[in-house]
Amino acid sequence: MEKVRVAIVGASGRMGRTLIEAALAHPQIRLGAAIERAGSTLMGVDAGDLVGHGSIGVTLVDNPDLVRDDFDVLIDFTSPDATVELAVWCATHGKPMAIGTTGFNSHQKGRIAELAQDLPIVLAPNMAVGVNLLFKLLETAAQVMGEYTDIEIIEGHHRYKKDAPSGTALRMGEVIADTLGRDLEECAIYGREGITEERDRQTIAFSTIRAGDIVGEHTALFADIGERLEITHKASSRMTFANGAMRAALWLASRENGLYDMQQVLGFK
Ligand code: NAD
Repeated sequence: MEKVRVAIVGASGRMGRTLIEAALAHPQIRLGAAIERAGSTLMGVDAGDLVGHGSIGVTLVDNPDLVRDDFDVLIDFTSPDATVELAVWCATHGKPMAIGTTGFNSHQKGRIAELAQDLPIVLAPNMAVGVNLLFKLLETAAQVMGEYTDIEIIEGHHRYKKDAPSGTALRMGEVIADTLGRDLEECAIYGREGITEERDRQTIAFSTIRAGDIVGEHTALFADIGERLEITHKASSRMTFANGAMRAALWLASRENGLYDMQQVLGFK
């Protein structure tokens, strides 16, 4: 079977370096290109050196145009503005895209959905298998307990993470709100002030921890007087996200245009 060639954008970032390792180790994937923005201190370094594999014949470039014949699927873990620009590029050049970046505003999300009419895109704030199972479990928890319990979503990440709450926490909130037939914007609470009064109407409250090197932890808490249910996922290595991205890239290689999520990639829906 022909290998799927991937380009990794954000190649010298925390996820980028892990994605390079995952691509090099994957039997059905070939690392076709590694892309970083101009100005990154690691530009010009061989991508292989980034992960200690020595030369792998893939050069770090700052522009997908330079390597567009070298890959079939683009994997993006960068920043929201960069992702939207890359999605425009992918739509123009007919390259499927796996997007792991988080922190999009509603305008940027709308733009990605629009571009997905012209190319297949997987947009997943968390590519770990366990988190996508957690999304599924949340539907059941919200159906059974969501109408009468206090609902809290607590997430923790490393000190360098830029967006808060995390894209995963927001997706957890959306899954619960959708199940309850509510709009997350209307029931989300991001601070503690007035929380006691807010509990009188149904709300989903978010708390964020940013500390040390936490890779990613998410808990949904459904609490009544007398009992509570907690559902927690803990990621201990970025490799779990990177392996999910490889699955998304393989799945995308034979997909029609459209916007997909990780649950579709994993066959949960
Ligand atoms: P990071 O800051 O370590 O890396 C981002 C890299 O992208 C940097 O090296 C930066 O120079 C590069 N970059 C920015 N703009 C670029 C452009 N225009 N072209 C090429 N490269 C560009 O961040 P990180 O911890 O690796 O996380 C990256 C993103 O992935 C964040 O949004 C994070 O929340 C998200 N993330 C998603 C998942 C998931 O499973 N979906 C898991 C972990 C992190």
